[in-house]
Amino acid sequence: MSATNTRSRAPAWAVDDASIMTLASGALELSGFLERAARSIAEAAGADACAIFLTVPSGRELIRTAAHGLKANHAGSTSVALGQGLIGRVSQGSRVLQAVCGDAAARSAPDLAELRGRHFGAVAAAPIEHAGTRVGVVALYQRTAARFGRGQLELLREVGVRLDMAIALVNAAAGANKAQAASGPRHAVAGMYRGEGVSHGHAFGVARVLSRAPAARVLELRRLSEPDGNPAVGALTEILDRTAAQLEREQGALAERLPEAAAMIFESHLMMLRDRAFVSRIQEGRDAGMELGRAIAEAAADFIRIFERSEHEYVRERARDIEDLALRLIRNVDAADSGADQEGEMHVIVARELLPSDILWIAQRDVKGIVLVSGGSTAHVSLLVRSLGIPMVIVSAGELLQVVDGTSMLVDGMGGLVLVDPPEAAIRAFERRGQLAQQARTQSRARHEVTTTRDGCRIRLMANINLLSEVPHALELRAEGIGLYRTELLYLMRPDLPDEADQEAVYRRLLRAVGKLPVTFRTLDAGGDKVLAYFNSAAEANPALGLRSTRLTLKHPEVFDRQLRAILRASSEREEVRIMFPMIGSLDEWRLARERFCLCARQVMDEHGEGHNVRLGMMVELPAVVDLMEDFATEASFFSIGTNDFIQYTLGVDRTNDRVSEYYCPHHPAVLRGLQRVVAAACRRNVPVSVCGEMAHDPRYIPFFIGIGVRELSVDPNYLPAVQETVERFTLSEAENYARSLLKQATIGEVATRLFNG
Ligand code: PEP
Ligand code: MG
Repeated sequence: MSATNTRSRAPAWAVDDASIMTLASGALELSGFLERAARSIAEAAGADACAIFLTVPSGRELIRTAAHGLKANHAGSTSVALGQGLIGRVSQGSRVLQAVCGDAAARSAPDLAELRGRHFGAVAAAPIEHAGTRVGVVALYQRTAARFGRGQLELLREVGVRLDMAIALVNAAAGANKAQAASGPRHAVAGMYRGEGVSHGHAFGVARVLSRAPAARVLELRRLSEPDGNPAVGALTEILDRTAAQLEREQGALAERLPEAAAMIFESHLMMLRDRAFVSRIQEGRDAGMELGRAIAEAAADFIRIFERSEHEYVRERARDIEDLALRLIRNVDAADSGADQEGEMHVIVARELLPSDILWIAQRDVKGIVLVSGGSTAHVSLLVRSLGIPMVIVSAGELLQVVDGTSMLVDGMGGLVLVDPPEAAIRAFERRGQLAQQARTQSRARHEVTTTRDGCRIRLMANINLLSEVPHALELRAEGIGLYRTELLYLMRPDLPDEADQEAVYRRLLRAVGKLPVTFRTLDAGGDKVLAYFNSAAEANPALGLRSTRLTLKHPEVFDRQLRAILRASSEREEVRIMFPMIGSLDEWRLARERFCLCARQVMDEHGEGHNVRLGMMVELPAVVDLMEDFATEASFFSIGTNDFIQYTLGVDRTNDRVSEYYCPHHPAVLRGLQRVVAAACRRNVPVSVCGEMAHDPRYIPFFIGIGVRELSVDPNYLPAVQETVERFTLSEAENYARSLLKQATIGEVATRLFNG
């Protein structure tokens, strides 16, 4: 197979929600969007021209609003009466119709000036539908007088179904921006902001700005919510009890969602509620005549100031907990006062930065979406947010931090959009898109149980997971096991090291959830951009080249051992479990890590009297190991290639630094040839090798990996259906030819030409 053949089966522009909405995201007004859409539709369908007609507000005619490939002198079809001619009939029915030059349909269609003037030989049209009504027509034209193929008609029908959301979105966003410009915003910050979507899905909720100055916030809230001349007079103990009961209730629900943090959730809140000093400080305020909400705010603000002055970051971060508890108490006072239950507000969090510890805070609340202003987050915070399924967009619009709490906000993680105070139409468009995405998810469950290339070569598809909450989704999508469990996320969201029993409990739960399927534990991969403040806090000039990963755990054997023992204990009743060490740079490091494992295995065996059932492997992430693979192969049971780091270290490019992102090239010839040598050595020695970095889900690299001998890919669960579809498109020899053709190229440009242009 050549690259051309692989790509020619996939349309240049797939008609799914993602592509339509991405197209819409680039447009600030409707006509610009529709022009681009017309071009993309024509290209995707392999047609010579495309036109989009929209119904005018009077509802009696359609106007050609955008076109690609039609000449200006095709004036006959710029407006069409409803019900007349082919376009007019399509606009009133729900079917796709076509006409070929000279046939009866063409003769009875007065609107088809293009056909009569012999500019084109055939036309096909589909209705654009919105909530059951037809709002326009999309038409394709081709020069030859031949009927359109089934695939083209199907694509046209799909476009018609999906285009309406994008139209509604662009209209809504343009409307919001126009209204803001004309009459001034309802809020100081309003309209649409474009950024980068890092976690998909969409969310609608009320804004809550996460500040790093909680004391001021608590007082501010109190001032805003204090009823004039009618101070609230709830009883303190009643509010404390009610809040404690509420916290305990939520704790149960959240332990399900985030089992990794089950023991910690709300611990600090409950402790604070029972803290005598805090309670008496509130009481003092009451005794001095303050209404209850104000007394809580004043007491909390005092405590926050004390915590914020601490020299320990961990203590300073606890100030956020007090802020949070105070806000909860105050809301409960207000709710008691008004008789309303104010729980259950759905928040969109707006923050300048997010720390890994914030994730726990976020998981505890009903956070629907996140807007990160100016990108203050590590790659692993993004990973965690994705694992929790919360849509997130990074925007560089500082004014969003000024948005008033409670303002409604829509976050589109797929298109990278943030809409402040969005119009009703935009909310509806997104809701509909959510329903379609849900439908697509349901359909994608019906994948084949096993994955093979077109000619039957078996490829195992595994899932990468970061949190236990992802396991059901991975199984639903028929992952054949867990190819990478990033255990460090369990460490990242905690304020201190998880103890052995906590880890064992989480690992046990994971193993129970996956049943008999294989699981690959990666030992702690901290350091670099995954900083554990409580563990490896020394600031480093070059963290990516600093004390990280297995080097870090080897320096702290007590931490390493705790984790290894926890995995061994949790898996003692399983037939097999895999453990792999990240970022191994030499046989010496590998052997040191293996020694620690053997030591722990002996300790656990002494307790239980049973041998272990662990296969020990390593990640291939450093170019240093490429020439040593045959040596590793005599000692390791399996290899897993972490392409994210392999690219970073082969090319000397920080994978998290936007300023050098253009140099982060998976298609660099040195990367591809390095990967080929790794896989070839593993195959020669019969050691299984899988790929678990981001390249493993990219349709451009999947045939490459299979062509060089990889038979197992491990990807984010969401990619499983698409990866299976890609694998099923080619034969093994096509993949081998494709890989050979890429490996022959000596420049990035030449590889890119083959990869991107077919
Ligand atoms: C990788 O480096 O490709 C990998 C899978 O590990 P992580 O992204 O967690 O560093
Ligand atoms: Mg890595």
